[in-house]
Amino acid sequence: MITGVEWIIIAFLVLVVVIVVVVLLLTKLLASKSEEKEVYYPTRICPKCGRNLSQLPDDIKNCPYCSNELA
Ligand SMILES: [Zn+2]
Repeated sequence: MITGVEWIIIAFLVLVVVIVVVVLLLTKLLASKSEEKEVYYPTRICPKCGRNLSQLPDDIKNCPYCSNELA
């Protein structure tokens, strides 16, 4: 049988879980909003020489600076 004190503990635990879920959802929403710029303007860098390839076409197979094969 569940007593009055146990109901208070259960209600408190449910409240804590709800608060944690809300905080996690808000954090995720804020994080995804701040990452939008990175998605729209991705910075591509050659893994070998470290040169910025963002201004070059997406379909280039090799780095024009060091001719390293790009993934
Ligand atoms: Zn390179």
